Amino acid sequence: MDPKVGIYICKGCDIAKTVDVDKLVEEVGKGKNVALCKSQDVMCAREAVEQIKKDIESEELNRVVVGACSPRVFPELFEFGENVLTERVSLREHVAWSHETDDEEDMEMLAQDYVNMGLARVNHTEPPEPFTAETSKDVLVVGGGVGGMTAAKAVADAGYKVHLVEKEDHLGGWAAKWTKVFPKTPPYDSLEDFDLSTLVQSVESHDNITVHKSATVKRSKGQPGEFMVELNNGTPEPFTVGSIILASGWKPYDPKKLGKWGYGVSPDVVTNVQMEEMMKSGEIKRPSDGKAPESIAFIQCAGSRDKDYLPYCSSVCCRVSLKQAKYVREKYPDAKVYIIYKDLRSPQQYEMFYQNAQADEGTFFTKGEIGEVTSNGDGRVTVNVSETLLGEDIQVKADMVVLATGMVPTTKVEGVKGDLDVMAEVAEMLDAGEIPKKEEEEEEAMEDGKKAAAGAEKGARILNLSYRQGTDLPTLKYGFPDSHFICFPYETRRTAVYAVGGVRSPMDLASTINDAYGAGLKAIQAVESVAKGSAVHPRAGDLSYPEFFLQRCTQCKRCTEECPFGALDEDDKGTPKPNPFRCRRCGVCMGACPERIVTFKNYNISMVSNMIKSISMPDEFDEKPRILAFVCENDAMPALEMAASLRMKYNEMIRIIPLRCLGSMNTIWIGDALSNGFDGVILLGCRKGEDYQCHFVRGSELAEYRMENVREKLKQLVLEEERVEVHEVAISEFHKIPKIFNDFLETIDSVGLNPYKGM
Ligand code: SF4
Ligand code: SF4
Repeated sequence: MDPKVGIYICKGCDIAKTVDVDKLVEEVGKGKNVALCKSQDVMCAREAVEQIKKDIESEELNRVVVGACSPRVFPELFEFGENVLTERVSLREHVAWSHETDDEEDMEMLAQDYVNMGLARVNHTEPPEPFTAETSKDVLVVGGGVGGMTAAKAVADAGYKVHLVEKEDHLGGWAAKWTKVFPKTPPYDSLEDFDLSTLVQSVESHDNITVHKSATVKRSKGQPGEFMVELNNGTPEPFTVGSIILASGWKPYDPKKLGKWGYGVSPDVVTNVQMEEMMKSGEIKRPSDGKAPESIAFIQCAGSRDKDYLPYCSSVCCRVSLKQAKYVREKYPDAKVYIIYKDLRSPQQYEMFYQNAQADEGTFFTKGEIGEVTSNGDGRVTVNVSETLLGEDIQVKADMVVLATGMVPTTKVEGVKGDLDVMAEVAEMLDAGEIPKKEEEEEEAMEDGKKAAAGAEKGARILNLSYRQGTDLPTLKYGFPDSHFICFPYETRRTAVYAVGGVRSPMDLASTINDAYGAGLKAIQAVESVAKGSAVHPRAGDLSYPEFFLQRCTQCKRCTEECPFGALDEDDKGTPKPNPFRCRRCGVCMGACPERIVTFKNYNISMVSNMIKSISMPDEFDEKPRILAFVCENDAMPALEMAASLRMKYNEMIRIIPLRCLGSMNTIWIGDALSNGFDGVILLGCRKGEDYQCHFVRGSELAEYRMENVREKLKQLVLEEERVEVHEVAISEFHKIPKIFNDFLETIDSVGLNPYKGM
């Protein structure tokens, strides 16, 4: 249907104080395909919204441009049904609150440009039609420990069917080995029981949960809403699930690497896990002679926080030693306990637990660096400690030593195989007939598997997904699944697959339970979103999806390689095969495609190109340069709006276009901007690198990578490199924005105006 547009301009929130709204209303509709253009005193007032609804009805409008406040304000107020596209133009934040000039013409042009960009946007987009299919709302939970069971029960209690897969022949995980747990109730000073059996029983008897014990996942093929899961437990029938929770937990750091701390030197040097097992068996005995120990030394951070061993803190080992010290002191009141630490970390209410242990006259704490740990032949172990608080080196002699070892995620694999090894393994499996070849579909599945293996990320084989980029969750650091730790902690780089508990981050049982509820909720949101054809966060509710005009595809594979979420498989020739339910609608594929054949109904190349073209170029070139800013909607745009709300001002020569992600920036837009007379282009995106903040993981990184092409292009056009800049802006760095803009204007001033201007 042809667009029929109504434009509405708000006079409130200082807009009418800075802009001549009546003149704006007169000017913006002129000569354009606009059915009506009106102003309202207060656009968010009920009467104003009602007026728009009446106009939609009477004038048969199917596009509405609202020039008022940011779309982040009252997001639902200006939604007028699925057949009416609404574009919000931030006259308040981008014009009224962020600019101060006596030059009325500059303010007029600024406001007109933003409204015209809104108009270009609605004229070059369509209401999205969701991609839907018959999908499953069942959830797969991998791991039958407390995290997995809690998540499974939460999801099942909410009315969803759950398949819980556990590799052991019983549920419980590590908690089955624990005798007591850290205090959870005031005054937080005593150990508590954990009622594991009730949890196990409630899971095993739950009508909505099917428990698969002694089972692992052989393959999970497909995409959210339709993952087809096969198990390695003789179950013949695969089943389909909509989302997956990975709760495969952690494993202890390999103590064989801890010879320096005495492991393997003496049998009486054990790990905290071994200590827990002894307690569970009812006996704490010295391994060498089976006698009750009269003294035990706990060595904290055994290998942890040491770049040569386990570089991070597992956050629980200090409290585990406090707990085990209590075991020893309660069992053998005459025994002495020594806790030797670098730092003792017992956060939040656990401080009370620490204080309680400090008050025990048989437990001694000392800070120091562990030197040699030796076995004396007198049946005791000597721990040499230097740099103590007393300033002297000391020796602690004890009947037993317990190493407080850290937690390693099950997604971490030692001696990881290279891609070629993985491929060889797959070929071997095929030859050995482990993968049946008779049914066409299974052959196809294997093809997918082979491709997945070919591009496999280094890591575990727990989920055995059929993604081009690998069979399991991409890991970021230390083997933990990549996750947006700040905003979306359960999120992984596989849409609708959520990591929970010790596999996501080192954590204790209480945190794992909290985590499990969060991931359970996410798994439900995912299956419900997929059923509606809607994106999961961060673009929750977005009904658009990328469409590929494949007749013009050159099989360059850029989109399939750059998609951060593995949403695009490819055929043998390299033509992309989209999996729409894996897609997060970031637009990275659109930014990547040199043929510009990827479009979203409500976000596309032509939309932004037309927005650029809709910006007027003043005749007085030298007095009024023009800068185009592509700003990421996720962090940089809220930062910009925060600066505006604090009335921080920036130069009125700048025009802003929001992008879903800097990764969605197609370099053609920079060419468009320069050929339309812009003097410079600035890109504001999220932080990249190890501590990235990009909501779409690799968007900022890819934008930087594409800048190489832009620089090349600038060279060909004999234009200065300085005309295009990229900046990383965290949401908290709003105060930097005016300076970034003003400095860029100075740079442009020094290189001169765009020589192609006006051509
Ligand atoms: S790059 Fe983004 S928009 Fe494109 S297919 Fe992948 S997730 Fe979807
Ligand atoms: S980037 Fe474009 S041309 Fe290249 S494979 Fe993808 S769709 Fe085809």
